[in-house]
Amino acid sequence: MSHLNNHFISNHVLKINVGFLLHEAAGYNRDIDFDIPVIRLADDVDLRYLRGTLRFTRTRRGILVQGNMHAGYQAQCERCLEDTTLQLDLEIEELFVYPPTPEAEFAVGDDGALNLAPLLREETIVHVPIRVVCDADCRGLCAECGQNLNYGTCTCKEDAIDPRFIILKQLQKGD
Ligand SMILES: [Zn+2]
Ligand SMILES: [Zn+2]
Repeated sequence: MSHLNNHFISNHVLKINVGFLLHEAAGYNRDIDFDIPVIRLADDVDLRYLRGTLRFTRTRRGILVQGNMHAGYQAQCERCLEDTTLQLDLEIEELFVYPPTPEAEFAVGDDGALNLAPLLREETIVHVPIRVVCDADCRGLCAECGQNLNYGTCTCKEDAIDPRFIILKQLQKGD
C-alpha cells in the first residue's frame, strides 16, 4: 500500500500557536483535540492516524504539554514484507520553555508557536519494537518463489530436496 505515501499530510499541522496562552497566568490551560488521518511526522515516520487530546498549561517556565495520543505507525512486516500498522499509545508530558533558550530541547518559538512534530517523532520511535511483524502467526514468504504464505501455499515444498538427501548424494560421490 506504499502508493498511499504521497497522500500523507505535512507535519506543519503540528505547529501549534500558543500565543494566547503565553498572555495568561500560570495554571491556565486549554485542551486541543487531534484527529489526523494520515501524516508524515518526519522523513522516517509515517502515521496512518494520530488521535488524542493534549492539555496545554501555562506555567512560569513555559507551556506544559500533557496527554495521551494514539498513533498508527506504518511499518513493514519483516516476514511477509507487507505494510502493517502498529497501534502505539504515546504518553506525552513535556515542557516547552518560554522564552526559548539555546539549551532547551523543546521551546516555544519567538513567534508564539510550538512544534509537536519532533516530540511526537521521538515518542513514536521509542515505542516501535525492533522486530515488526504484521501478526505473531505471519507465515512469511516462500524462500523459493516469494509466494506470501498467508494467502496460500505454493508447490515448492513438494519439489524441495530434503537436505539429508543432498548429504547422502555427496557421500556417494566421494566413493
Ligand atoms: Zn507479515
Ligand atoms: Zn514457493
